[in-house]
Amino acid sequence: MLKIGLTGGIGSGKSIVAKAFEMLGIPVYVSDVEAKRLMNTNEIVQKQLIVRFGEDVYESNGTLNRKRLADIIFNDSKALKDINSIVHPAVRKDFKLWCDKHASLSYVIQESAILFDTGLYRNFDKIITVSAEEEIRIQRVLKRDSSVLELVQKRIANQLPDEERIQKSDFVIYNNDELILPQVVLIDREIRSIG
Ligand code: ATP
Repeated sequence: MLKIGLTGGIGSGKSIVAKAFEMLGIPVYVSDVEAKRLMNTNEIVQKQLIVRFGEDVYESNGTLNRKRLADIIFNDSKALKDINSIVHPAVRKDFKLWCDKHASLSYVIQESAILFDTGLYRNFDKIITVSAEEEIRIQRVLKRDSSVLELVQKRIANQLPDEERIQKSDFVIYNNDELILPQVVLIDREIRSIG
């Protein structure tokens, strides 16, 4: 079974592309969603977060206190790195178990915005990048999240530029005004042919 990475900057359309692959019967592991789940349910992750940041990163009902964590990250420049060093290994382990469950398929996909930033890209047989013009991405995110322009621009500035991601990828899906599904069908066919 091949492991395929799916990446792209904020608002590029990773979720939409992931849905298209799922329509073709390919399971997609969405790293952000699973990381949040692990922070709420994985005892090792929970213990490590409490040791590093204190009991009050969790509510009394055991769910993550996201507001508290956001405050910590805002005020402690090392915090995000420490959270990642706790959560990323748990996600990697969880993804491996998830892959085992799908071992009979020709390939599975892991979606993550930070594949190249974390070195995670080395774990994949092929990588797909979703790319769209920065202005289009900004408008889509503003509409989706009712976020503010400066915040979205800051997120983009903190991420790798599209050109760099494209250069390091095996496949690119363009999501400006192009149709997604035909591009996904072609890539699916090609991956199946090498798997
Ligand atoms: P993030 O990294 O922030 O999670 P993402 O890469 O997963 O973003 P999406 O959530 O798939 O991006 O897309 C961003 C927003 O743009 C969504 O609201 C989505 O519905 C919208 N969108 C994506 N592609 C298109 C498109 N081709 N036409 C119109 N709207 C789109």
